[in-house]
Parts: sequence; structure tokens; C-alpha cells
Amino acid sequence: MRKILTFLTFIMFILACGQDKTTEKSSSEPVTEVQNEPGFGIVIHGGAGTILKENMSDSLEAAYTAKLEEAIRVGHEILKNGGSAMEAVTKTINVMEDSPLFNAGKGAVFTHDETNELDASVMDGATLNAGAVAGVTRIKNPIDLALEVMLNSPHVMLSGKGAENFAQEQGFELVDPSYFFTEQRFNSLKRVKEMKKSKAVSRNDPFINDSKFGTVGCAALDKNGNLAAGTSTGGMTNKRWNRIGDAPIIGAGTYANNATCAVSSTGWGEYFIRAMVAHDISALMEYKGLSLQEAARLVIQEKVAALGGDGGIVAIDKNGNVSMEFNTAGMYRAHMNADGELRIGIYKE
Ligand code: ASP
Repeated sequence: MRKILTFLTFIMFILACGQDKTTEKSSSEPVTEVQNEPGFGIVIHGGAGTILKENMSDSLEAAYTAKLEEAIRVGHEILKNGGSAMEAVTKTINVMEDSPLFNAGKGAVFTHDETNELDASVMDGATLNAGAVAGVTRIKNPIDLALEVMLNSPHVMLSGKGAENFAQEQGFELVDPSYFFTEQRFNSLKRVKEMKKSKAVSRNDPFINDSKFGTVGCAALDKNGNLAAGTSTGGMTNKRWNRIGDAPIIGAGTYANNATCAVSSTGWGEYFIRAMVAHDISALMEYKGLSLQEAARLVIQEKVAALGGDGGIVAIDKNGNVSMEFNTAGMYRAHMNADGELRIGIYKE
């Protein structure tokens, strides 16, 4: 009898231990959940090109760094408070559009006819919905109109006068085209025209070098796991015939897909269109299983470079990994992760 009692006690002890283990496991689950709370992140560019330290004054460098930080902090705050990736992207881009430092919104480059024609696009990775505008001349923040096209029109891309009529119908205020004027961009146009006439102006002239690039873009991942990307630009100095670059073309200048990544491009638009840069990066991840970094490197360093194009991208994947890949001397760029760690870069590292 004693033996049976001892045996039963032993069995109960074993069962109790098992019970304890289960409790321990379930009580540890919330901890695991906290660790798995979705991360978020944001990455931006302010254009790529022949950006060399020796051509940059300390004050200009400080101005770019401060503006990149100001812009990315706006988006980061939105994401931290649970806002959407799309809101973070557009509000971040607004800061850069409003700054004359960048070739987007105020400070856009001049066309051959001394006007400013702006292009922009956005894409929502959750729905694969997208919106774009091309060749607008009176829209202060073209990225907002691209979003409006996505949200409140049956179309993906509107251009020129029609896009502006749509803007007015949607309650956008149109600005006078003189709003976009900056002395520096106007001088760039004059110098580019001069260079075309004579070979006297050096290709290393900083006005010439920065005349091609300076687009702004952003890619973000929010706490709900949604990705979004956007790009806004004045295009290329001295462009003619209502030329449209890659920035408003979904798949070239902008792409986002929750299954893979969100991408914004900057560079020589004709090559970025031909290489379908932003979608190519996503497709390499989706169909070939490449990591974001591998895909971005392949497209920028090999595919675009082999065609003779230059520029770069910023991108973020569904896990918050980031790529800031470029094949030019520099690219204005910044990244902020969920912990608030900030990286800002201008030149090649
Ligand atoms: N990609 C733009 C364009 O070709 C230029 C830029 O990125 O600065 O219009």
C-alpha cells in the first residue's frame, strides 16, 4: 500500500511539473509577442550625382544634412505614432519639396524654355494602387496631387493641364509658376546651354554636375507591415518637348509591394525607365528570392551601369531591411529605424 501511495505521489509530482512547464510557456508568450512587434522604418534620398566633397562648402553640406534630418524625422514621427507608410512618405517628401535645396517643388530645375515642369508618383504596397502626375507647372507639392490621383480618380497617371484641372476640382490651390524660381537653378540652365554651345565649360563644374539630379524620394514600412514609396522631381535641366522622366512612372521611379519592398529611384531617368529599376528590384526578390540588398546592387551596379545610366535608389523591405544603392559619386540620403537610430550620408563611404 505504501509502495502504491509513493508511486501515486511520484506520478502526481511528474504531472505537476508538466503543468508548471505549460504555465511557464504560456506566461512567456506575451514576452515573445512584444519582441515580435512589427518594426517600422523610413529611408529617403535627395538625389544622386557627381556630389564630391571638394565641391561642397561646409555650410552647404550642413544645410543638406539638416534638411534631410528634418524631413526624415517628420516621417519617423508619423510611423512611431502608428501612422501609415503612405502618410509618412508624402509628408516627408513635402519637406524636401518645400526646400530650394532639392530639385522638386520649390527649387525644381528649368526646362529649355525656362519653365518648371514637375513629375511625381506614389505607390501603396498593400493594395498595389498608385498615382502619378507629369509635367505639372502650378502644383506646389506634386506628391500630394499624385496621392489625390490615386485616392480620388479612376486613373493612375494624369499630365499637364488636365492634371491641373483635376487638382482644381479637388480643391488644390494652384501657385503662380514663378513660385518655383531659384537663382541657382536658373544659372544651371544658363550654364548647361552655354556648355552645349561651347566646350569651354568644364563637365566638373558643380553647376553642371548637379544640374541633372536632385530628385527627392522616400520609402517607408509602417507598424501594420504596409509599405509605400513616393518620388518627386523637376526632372532634368534643359529638358525639352515635355520630356517626362522615370519619377512619375510606376515601376521605374517608384514601386511598392507588401510582398517584397518599396523603392524610390533617382538618376538619369531615360535609363531608369529602360531598366524598369524599381519594379525590377521587387521582381528579383519576388521571383528569384534575392535579398533587397542583392537585388538593388544587381539592378543599379550591373543592369543600369551596363546600359550607361547612373543614379541610385533607396528602398526598404517588408522586414525593415534597407538599401541605399547608387553608382554615382554621391547620393543625399538618410535612414531611420524603429529605435530612432539615424544615418545620414552624402558621399560614397
Ligand atoms: N530621375 C529624374 C529624371 O530623370 C532626375 C533625378 O533623379 O534627379 O527626371
